[in-house]
Amino acid sequence: MVKVLLAQPRGFCAGVIRAIDIVDQALDRVGAPVYVRHEIVHNRHVVDTLKAKGAVFVEELNEVPTGAVTIFSAHGVSRTVQADAEARGLPVIDATCPLVSKVHIQGRRYVQAGRTLVLIGHAGHPEVEGTLGQIDGEVHLVGTPEEVESLPLALDAPIAYITQTTLSVDDTRAIIGALTARFSDVTGPDTADICYATQNRQSAVRELCEHADMLLVVGSPNSSNSNRLREIGEEMGKPSFLVADGSQLDPRWLEGVETIGLTAGASAPEELVQSVIAAIRAVTSVTVETLDGLEENVQFRLPPALDRLPQRARVA
Ligand code: SF4
Repeated sequence: MVKVLLAQPRGFCAGVIRAIDIVDQALDRVGAPVYVRHEIVHNRHVVDTLKAKGAVFVEELNEVPTGAVTIFSAHGVSRTVQADAEARGLPVIDATCPLVSKVHIQGRRYVQAGRTLVLIGHAGHPEVEGTLGQIDGEVHLVGTPEEVESLPLALDAPIAYITQTTLSVDDTRAIIGALTARFSDVTGPDTADICYATQNRQSAVRELCEHADMLLVVGSPNSSNSNRLREIGEEMGKPSFLVADGSQLDPRWLEGVETIGLTAGASAPEELVQSVIAAIRAVTSVTVETLDGLEENVQFRLPPALDRLPQRARVA
């Protein structure tokens, strides 16, 4: 018999719900196929479900046929991608999370104010690629406090930082600390740009680990915020595993465990959490409880461009 303790909040955030709604509604209006540049959110199950409805996922715009409805993923895109789409006359619906767009705007403001911009984030992540490509001029990317030490900037240079939205709150604090320790004129947003959903899920998982013997995080391997949740479990000294769904549960992980902490990254649907509970139930009897936590009520509006898509003729 084990107890499964669920984190609150967990799973879908407002930006992911909006991005999935955009693809669903575009399909509903114009019919299949609609083209999505990059995985709309980093979750294989979500992508496969939308594929089955007629979404086609591509990595580059040159894979999109002329005139086809094109959706940019929640992670955002560079200005080059936006300009390419415009030059080709593609009808674009931008599913970039409004909290990512906010970081782009903030970065541009700092550059216009004459500051050298430092982006705190992970090289190669699509959100980082998009943010780097949204800001004119040189942007210095750092992912660790050590990288701050090798930044080729004068110690009194006016510097501003912005951050990827799905980083670890603690890692980000350490990098900001390294920046302010090394440089004399550093500014940044009041709180780092770590989004509300990332912060809430990280706080909830810390609390969860106080009460659990091990941690399971439901999420895809390429989901940044899911990986951070698993890392927090490890930092808290608990065996911690990232699983895409119940099929990846290894029964050996449960040996000697009384309480399993279970959470999900911001792009992982609740049905996958339930599939993990079902997989545990196949090994042993289970009681399920949810830890007290924050109720989120953030919602983002859908982009007006959706309403401008032609409505397909309905067959009676
Ligand atoms: Fe937006 Fe945060 Fe969700 Fe990313 S994790 S889509 S920034 S709300």
